[in-house]
Amino acid sequence: MASDLLAFARGLSQGAIRIVDLTQTLTQDFPTIQLPPEFGQCAPFRLEEVSRYDERGPAWYWNNISVGEHCGTHFDAPIHWISGKDLPNNAVDTIDPANFIAPASVVDCSKECAADPDFTLTIPFVETWEKQNGGIAAGDWVLLRSDWSKKPYAEYAGLRSDGAHTPGPDAAVVKWLVEERDVHGFGTETIGTDHGQGHHFNPPFPAHFYMHGKGRYGLQCLTNLDLLPPKGAVIVSAPLKIKNGSGSPLRVLALVEASP
Ligand code: MN
Repeated sequence: MASDLLAFARGLSQGAIRIVDLTQTLTQDFPTIQLPPEFGQCAPFRLEEVSRYDERGPAWYWNNISVGEHCGTHFDAPIHWISGKDLPNNAVDTIDPANFIAPASVVDCSKECAADPDFTLTIPFVETWEKQNGGIAAGDWVLLRSDWSKKPYAEYAGLRSDGAHTPGPDAAVVKWLVEERDVHGFGTETIGTDHGQGHHFNPPFPAHFYMHGKGRYGLQCLTNLDLLPPKGAVIVSAPLKIKNGSGSPLRVLALVEASP
């Protein structure tokens, strides 16, 4: 109803609804995921000044940018993974845009991740969270709050000689979130939706395998999840409309009801 939309607009303008920016700033220094050297690599963000009120353009400032699809705060489409490659409407340009707005359940694992960078999200952990906060609803984003966004860039990817050490979900909990909770997607503050050691899991990279195999979405390199309530935030996350794109950097916003 139109009155709902007007009430929403009034809520925004009068401060009853506030916006939390869940986006990291895109810079050339922001860490980009690194695969083993035998694989192709995602390019980091690059910026090249075209002109800045100078002889190249006396009254205007602008830049050329280049960026990998999976760089900075970004969205993963189902076509990103082999398990989702044949699904209908699986690329960023063909996903129904209604899917770019959805509520979130924010699972706080920040204490556990501070104590253990290899923290693994499990079904029992989420079940305990549900007892305290209410059940995860069908169509919810599940966002893993790790406070990883607060790490300096040098520590962000968690790279050691034996691979990345960053928190993430085990295979069972991702399958369960899709099949038993019918979630919208899975989002993290780390460099990917999967655990840093997720290539050793069965199946490898289960967040990618199960989420995208069932047409669900991913968000990663999120920030400010500590500013969201466990339930009640609505996430706006519309990727760039790249033809047949597997994902894209984007601005991710959370709408949150201000506490009275
Ligand atoms: Mn990605």
